[in-house]
Amino acid sequence: MTSRHLLILGGTAEAAALARALAGRLQVTTALAGRTEHPAPLPGAVRIGGFGGADGLADWLEKNEVDLVIDATHPFAAVISANAASACTRLGLPRLRLQRPAWRRDPRDRWAELETAEAAARALERLGGRAFVTIGVQELAAFQRLHGVWLLIRLIARPPAGLDLGPHQVILSRGPFNLAEERLLLQRHRITILVTKASGGAATEAKLIAAREADLPVIMIRRPPPPPGPITDSVEAAQAWVESTAQGLSTAMRGRSTW
Ligand code: NAP
Repeated sequence: MTSRHLLILGGTAEAAALARALAGRLQVTTALAGRTEHPAPLPGAVRIGGFGGADGLADWLEKNEVDLVIDATHPFAAVISANAASACTRLGLPRLRLQRPAWRRDPRDRWAELETAEAAARALERLGGRAFVTIGVQELAAFQRLHGVWLLIRLIARPPAGLDLGPHQVILSRGPFNLAEERLLLQRHRITILVTKASGGAATEAKLIAAREADLPVIMIRRPPPPPGPITDSVEAAQAWVESTAQGLSTAMRGRSTW
């Protein structure tokens, strides 16, 4: 093993795949926000919890002698991505954004693409009907007190108490979801509209295919723009970037051995 230290900002399947591919080839630490109660085991070191903003992250990177950073967080995790960009720029550390591929729109899709959860909730109220809502827990507050809609809300964990969501049902389950399941869900709950985030990835794409087949409208919340800097949507390309960057890092920096 070399002494190069890679920090993967994780919490996604892509981050886990990269950690698996690189563990043993260099020192790998994966940082998780700590939102999942029992995260799946990962090779290398795992650090759980926030860093305390860009300053806290920069301190941690320095103290732990990190040489390079892969930001493989969720496409909607804009705060940690911006913090990573700022901390790495300040310290002169190489950083790559690994962001899973976006979903491709089919000509038959009836998507209304909107910027925010609030805009999505307003659009849903205008259209009315029975909505299948798959936006995660953090943006649910925007869907409080809507009139003329019934919500089927799919989450990984129970929503916090105190949300005034109007008529709704919560189902708890974790992907991947297959097409047969998604078709059945739309039929069983007589869904007339889907509300989702443009998260991308294969694990949760089946609902879009089921909505397309059923000719249902979809309210799609757009991804926030990634911070400036290099970006890839492929784990293999990220692995190649790590290998060539670690190789190219100056040995003079800390007098440590090369890749
Ligand atoms: P965020 O808003 O970018 O981050 C908020 C704070 O959480 C950060 O400032 C940081 O705290 C901490 N944090 C986030 N990721 C971290 C990591 N990998 N390691 C250590 N600390 C981390 O991100 P978010 O709150 O996780 O999520 C924002 C959006 O992404 C939401 O829309 C959410 O639904 C979506 N998301 C979805 C999934 C999913 O599996 N569906 C997973 C993650 C996120 P400090 O400032 O203290 O460092």
